[in-house]
Amino acid sequence: MSQALDRFLSLLFPSGCVLCGDAVAPDNYICARCRPDRVDGVLCALCGKTTGGCVCRPGNAWAFEQAVSALHYRHQTRNALLRLKKTPDMRTARFLADEMVLALRDALEGDIGFDLVTEVPIHPDKLSARGFNQAELLAAEVAKSLALPHRMRVLRCVGAAVFQHALDKKGRVDSAPERYGLAIARIKGARILLVDDIMTTGATLDACAKIRKDGGAASVLALTAAGTERNMARAV
Ligand SMILES: [Zn+2]
Ligand SMILES: [Zn+2]
Repeated sequence: MSQALDRFLSLLFPSGCVLCGDAVAPDNYICARCRPDRVDGVLCALCGKTTGGCVCRPGNAWAFEQAVSALHYRHQTRNALLRLKKTPDMRTARFLADEMVLALRDALEGDIGFDLVTEVPIHPDKLSARGFNQAELLAAEVAKSLALPHRMRVLRCVGAAVFQHALDKKGRVDSAPERYGLAIARIKGARILLVDDIMTTGATLDACAKIRKDGGAASVLALTAAGTERNMARAV
């Protein structure tokens, strides 16, 4: 959908269902017919994917302690996330953040022990072109909901403006750590909740978690609005 059409629709439906655009009851984010497409059932305790779609690699431990994805990256969830990439739609961000907090509470059985929330950064060129980072919007809403401090831009993205879409799976894994540099070391001993919009192979989250661990973080849990399934990793 073009940006102009998207803006036009959001003007027409300023408070419609964030999943389908239909009318919603006041203060609701989704209509009575839509259901959040939640990741549930038997999940990998490390990467948070359904066991058939586990992306953990033997002998390759993650830098994060655990990853949790709230929704499946498909259909209406995919549309909502694409919209959030194009426009800073706060109703979509709040809906997704609510789902993320639900999934987090479920995964940790209510034991939410973090010192701060931060997000996966985007390249500064991309940030200035787009004007916002959707992961930052989600992190802000998650932090608000959990009454935790949100530390923005703990990490600065460095390196060439080659983003992961242009890389193959192997390139993504190999190049991700080089794209980030440590910017602010306010993380020593901190238990960090690291937020992003989508988890595909987990390589970007792993790279960000590794830098935080190297910076002295005590632990990192990766929380994403959506996770791809096995056969979709290359479609993001
Ligand atoms: Zn709907
Ligand atoms: Zn796994």
